[in-house]
Amino acid sequence: MNNYDIADKIELLISYAKMYLMLQDTDEWYVRNRLMETLKISQPSYPTQDVAKLIDDILHPLSLYAISEGIIDEAQIDQFETKLIDFVMPAPSVIIECFDRKCLNEGMRQATTWFYDFCCKCNYIKTEDIKKNIVWSFTGSNGDIVVTVNLSKPEKDNREVAAARALPQLQYPKCMLCTSNVGFMGRPCYPSKYNLRTIPIFLGDELWHFQFSPYSYYEQHCIALSDEHKPMTLNSASFEKMLEFVSLFPHYFIGSNAPLPIVGGSILTHEHFQGGGKVHPMFKRPVYKQYKHTDFAGVKFGLLDWYNSVIRLKSKNKEALLAAVNYIHEKWCAYSDESVGILSKTTEQHNTITPIIRMERGEIFAELILRNNRTDSDHPFGIYHPTEDLHNIKKEGIGVIEVMGTFILPGRLASEFHGIANYLNGKKPFNEKELSNPENPLFKHRFMIAELLIRNGIVTEDKASTLVTAYINKVCEQILECTAVFKKDAKGKNAFDIFMNTLGFLPSDGSSEVAPADTCKTESPAPQTEVKPVADATPAPKKRGRPPKIK
Ligand SMILES: [Zn+2]
Repeated sequence: MNNYDIADKIELLISYAKMYLMLQDTDEWYVRNRLMETLKISQPSYPTQDVAKLIDDILHPLSLYAISEGIIDEAQIDQFETKLIDFVMPAPSVIIECFDRKCLNEGMRQATTWFYDFCCKCNYIKTEDIKKNIVWSFTGSNGDIVVTVNLSKPEKDNREVAAARALPQLQYPKCMLCTSNVGFMGRPCYPSKYNLRTIPIFLGDELWHFQFSPYSYYEQHCIALSDEHKPMTLNSASFEKMLEFVSLFPHYFIGSNAPLPIVGGSILTHEHFQGGGKVHPMFKRPVYKQYKHTDFAGVKFGLLDWYNSVIRLKSKNKEALLAAVNYIHEKWCAYSDESVGILSKTTEQHNTITPIIRMERGEIFAELILRNNRTDSDHPFGIYHPTEDLHNIKKEGIGVIEVMGTFILPGRLASEFHGIANYLNGKKPFNEKELSNPENPLFKHRFMIAELLIRNGIVTEDKASTLVTAYINKVCEQILECTAVFKKDAKGKNAFDIFMNTLGFLPSDGSSEVAPADTCKTESPAPQTEVKPVADATPAPKKRGRPPKIK
């Protein structure tokens, strides 16, 4: 591409930004000159009325040109493209103002939809990459499970890893979630955040921020994070914040990872929640047994017919529900039952919960997933963690998204599954010695390959692929079952009942009241229509508790 073509691409970027990114006519020369300087172009082209549909169609040629001219090297493509888009998009304050205005005039649901679309258009959420993910769902023994092989999250480039290693241990930003990431240029092995925009919200008395996840693991996958870099915690104040979140965003669920390793998420250093518009498979399950408690009138309790150990609470009364959530959390954290291996504490705390709160038809639902992170000599990775025979598919902690039945598997598995299928369809002869070499990328799958071959022999290509998928499905079910502190057998169910009885819960009839038909139905067509925006009419900036201006 020559200078003229690049000058044309600059015009296309400007027309795209005018159409989708709120670029004002008055700022046009300003951004054109900055883009020309960055791309070392001395003459502009003519403004165009054409608007590209995909931002990638503009950015990729520009970054290729920059590489060819020695302006950047290949490892800097993402950073460079993010910088270019940041030139043509508004500053954070403008986005916040616009969000507030939308909220006030059109309601919170419309404001979040607008903000989500903006984050896609400015390429913070890379929708074209996300389309490459392999997604399927299946119905298991205790409900549906959705599996995503995540091909959109880039694997780290070896050169980038080497460059990162050569850098001094930087303390800025303190983590990926810190608010100081807004506009951050990035560095090797740390994504560029030039185009990150967040919305301040108040949860309780604390300043928090609302943003979307760049990987969008499900519909409108959002994150609420504390303004302060402080460790994950779970207490009454956290539950109160989660309840406030669903009052502000009644069309979203909100969940928190447990604050302990093994059962928590990947980031325990910065307090945050994850939410979004998706109806996760767990939400659709009925309860198999319901309870009441004399101290919590107006709150219905039920044990969920799901792979792991979940108590569902439901109420129209926020205070009563909060009191009940606190009560169960506190009691569970101190509860031990050695007959099923549950020790709440040894030298450190083991019992915790993964809470999820959401609104549905004007009622508040809280699902409390009971967790325990204890290890022993037989289970060095965790007693309620995927067993070692499942680690070829998933070894990492099972966090809030996956315990609800939405699995995110690493992208490398796509090519590995292909390699496994080649053994099953006979394209590659089984060679034990070859597969026993730890350097072989299929080494960790060697038992899976042997098992499938023994059970099925050599099969057709289609059948091989079906067998691999069925195997993964079974593993996902087993992983969820591993996380159950009370297993689904008679002994486990009985132990769960004893726990409930110990807390003063009494069995009650009419389980349909706890699990109405609308929560048990099959696939939801549109998550956004599943919950009613009861707070949409509330003037948003006031409700959102905008932070006071600093004088
Ligand atoms: Zn942080």
